[in-house]
Amino acid sequence: MSAKNDIRYLADTSGNIEAVLLPWALWEKVEPQIKKLLREATATPVEQRPGPLKSFEEFLHFWNFKYAYDPAVHCPHCAASCADWRVAEGQPFVLTNANIGGLLVFHCRECGSTVRQKHFRDHVALEHTPPTP
Ligand SMILES: [Zn+2]
Repeated sequence: MSAKNDIRYLADTSGNIEAVLLPWALWEKVEPQIKKLLREATATPVEQRPGPLKSFEEFLHFWNFKYAYDPAVHCPHCAASCADWRVAEGQPFVLTNANIGGLLVFHCRECGSTVRQKHFRDHVALEHTPPTP
């Protein structure tokens, strides 16, 4: 298949391209990528809300674990990571929930996973939920 010659551009009377016609076989190959781009373009970005940050302050205020707080976050699903989620460029992780019991919940911007850090007296347990397709 010569894809280059199979792509047809549909123009208005002024010559402005309005649409593209693709052969079905080519469309079947590119459809997943195009749908992914459309999803990303229309997805509502997850932003840092003031609520979780306030509860994060309480989380730190009532810190009584045997180790210092480590602000590093790692996503087991896509391997995104940062040394400090609070100042990381592009904010790769958004804190969506925090409580004084030791739970921090992050949203991974890269893949959409939920990353949970459960702080116990002498260790941190990491859990994650991959994004729903
Ligand atoms: Zn991720």
